[in-house]
Amino acid sequence: MSTPPFGAPSAADIDAVSRQLGRPARNVIGIAARCVCGAPTVVSTRPRLDDGTPFPTLYYLSHPAATAAISTLEANGVMAEMQQLLTDESISADYSRSHLAYLADREGLEFVEEIAGISAGGMPKRVKCLHALVGHSLAAGPGVNPIGDLALERAEWSPLVCQCG
Ligand SMILES: [Zn+2]
Repeated sequence: MSTPPFGAPSAADIDAVSRQLGRPARNVIGIAARCVCGAPTVVSTRPRLDDGTPFPTLYYLSHPAATAAISTLEANGVMAEMQQLLTDESISADYSRSHLAYLADREGLEFVEEIAGISAGGMPKRVKCLHALVGHSLAAGPGVNPIGDLALERAEWSPLVCQCG
């Protein structure tokens, strides 16, 4: 497996993610995004777990305040609203590109045949999990995932304002 661009996680990173998830974090290959304070916000997991299970979600939103804020958006019907945005040809084309970018990131690390062509969050045609899409936006930076970017703008949470507590 290749080394991710964000580098290998430290023992402290793995501890922090385990605390965030409330269980031991396994197969962590790096921290793809962080809070301004340095705490992990997006954990990157090996595309094939040690036990052989394929794991498509390369970018997993692990930060409790972030996941809570995104859950609030989902509860408020924002997913249906975002799904509607995909009727716009330009947004839809950008969203398809974000799907390919996600696959390129993951397959650049490790190609796992069982999940070839499967990204996350419903991409490229559906909006099924804002957590996954925001995770991608935080990892890739603005301008890569239009739906993740919009969800992040709407959320009562930002990686620029520490809410780690
Ligand atoms: Zn913080």
